[in-house]
Amino acid sequence: MTIRVLSIASEAVPLIKTGGLADVVGALPGAVAQHDVAMTTMLPGYPAVMAALGKAKPIHAWPSLLGEAARLLAGSIGGRPLLVLDAPTLFRRDGGPYGDANGRDWADNGLRFAAFSRAAADIAGGAVPGATFDIAHAHDWQAALTCAYLRFAPVGTAPPTVVTIHNMAFQGHYPRALFDRLGLPAQAWSINGVEYHGGVGFLKAGLESAWAITTVSPTYAREIRTPEFGMGLDGLIRARAGHVHGIVNGIDTGEWNAATDPQLASPFTARTLGRRAANRAAVESEFGLDRSDGPLFVVISRLTWQKGMDVLLHVIDHLVASGARLALLGSGDKALEAGFAAAAVRHPGRVGVRIGYDEGCSHRLQGGGDAILVPSRFEPCGLTQLYGLAYGCVPVVARTGGLVDTVVDANLAAIAAGAATGVQFNAVTTEALTDAIDRTVALYRQPAIWQAIQRAGMKSDFSWGRSGKAYADLYETLVAASF
Ligand code: ADP
Repeated sequence: MTIRVLSIASEAVPLIKTGGLADVVGALPGAVAQHDVAMTTMLPGYPAVMAALGKAKPIHAWPSLLGEAARLLAGSIGGRPLLVLDAPTLFRRDGGPYGDANGRDWADNGLRFAAFSRAAADIAGGAVPGATFDIAHAHDWQAALTCAYLRFAPVGTAPPTVVTIHNMAFQGHYPRALFDRLGLPAQAWSINGVEYHGGVGFLKAGLESAWAITTVSPTYAREIRTPEFGMGLDGLIRARAGHVHGIVNGIDTGEWNAATDPQLASPFTARTLGRRAANRAAVESEFGLDRSDGPLFVVISRLTWQKGMDVLLHVIDHLVASGARLALLGSGDKALEAGFAAAAVRHPGRVGVRIGYDEGCSHRLQGGGDAILVPSRFEPCGLTQLYGLAYGCVPVVARTGGLVDTVVDANLAAIAAGAATGVQFNAVTTEALTDAIDRTVALYRQPAIWQAIQRAGMKSDFSWGRSGKAYADLYETLVAASF
């Protein structure tokens, strides 16, 4: 029996992306399709999504969705079904999905994503004729309230629900006053419902209400049980531990394939690694770097505390002194942006910095860099290290979350066994990162070992195969339990 899943999220490639969430939501329908799961993605009708949809026929209308007029449009994304909530007063605005062009969050984000979740719950409950779903799968806080609506105020028959935590740091907290606009019954205002420290907690409500909770790696699933990583919700995760599953993300190997990537000057495979040199030369030109016999480190990241970018900033002088170079692509905290720009000025030809978001450039860096630095303080799964593995750009990663589950440290035993795929370091401190850079430079200077690490990475399993099956198995278990 085919299981029909409504996958509800605030972003999905190729239509709208601010981070890894979009990659995962975009890839998931294809990943589960081989396992008899028919997934429909649901997105808010931001301008970019509406433009891609073209002239679509409305299949449902809400005269008042939490007070706003809204319609449901049907289209497709990546050749698979897409539902778009067109609520012009909530979603048709310039700027990003969550804030204006200056990065300030929209003041009504609570209402925006509550309405989105209410609509998703209506659809999953059967409000739209012809659209029937066996599972509602909500991603992150923006969609998490779907699970609470289906639990406390379902329309029709509520199907089983799954909520996925892509990052526990973003939880969606709003003042008590918002509760009165949500259309939830009074009993939902409880410690086992949407109430969180006297306000409304979107992710918290989802974690309380969902039949199953998943997060994007087994290590992160364990970490969020602790106060250090649980961000205040560790007690709830511990209480629901039997319902929490860690399923590591894969990558879209159609989008990320070094042998066919149109962004690369010189596509290559594990067997033709020598061809990478031309890609490195292209990155050197693009970032104004000198030629050198030391490794070229790259970074593709949000510039934030989570990503350990402040620590990286402190070790740049050491990185350069060790004979390495750095090409960095990222945007985020203004102070960090300024810090990296200043480092580029301080080290001309050695440090190249591009502040901004550029998908094509991210492919070129992976295809030409020697090693990608991921010094995250916490990392639910992380995708850039997976792209690095696939592109022979050796990941140098902090030992946390999904980075633990996807990179094999090049210790002596792993090197001898041919299993090493990268470098791991423990705490995100200047000392540990300095040490990891030194280890990486030393490995790079032993070409036979370095190439073995690159090849092992390219051959490692970063595909969606196993994880697509894990999601499908979970859906099947939940459907069976619902009878
Ligand atoms: P997170 O979602 O926490 O930002 P992930 O590693 O899971 O981190 O995913 C980040 C995604 O965003 C990757 O696809 C990465 O290539 C991409 N990315 C991050 N910063 C940039 C940038 N400045 N330009 C292009 N792509 C970027």
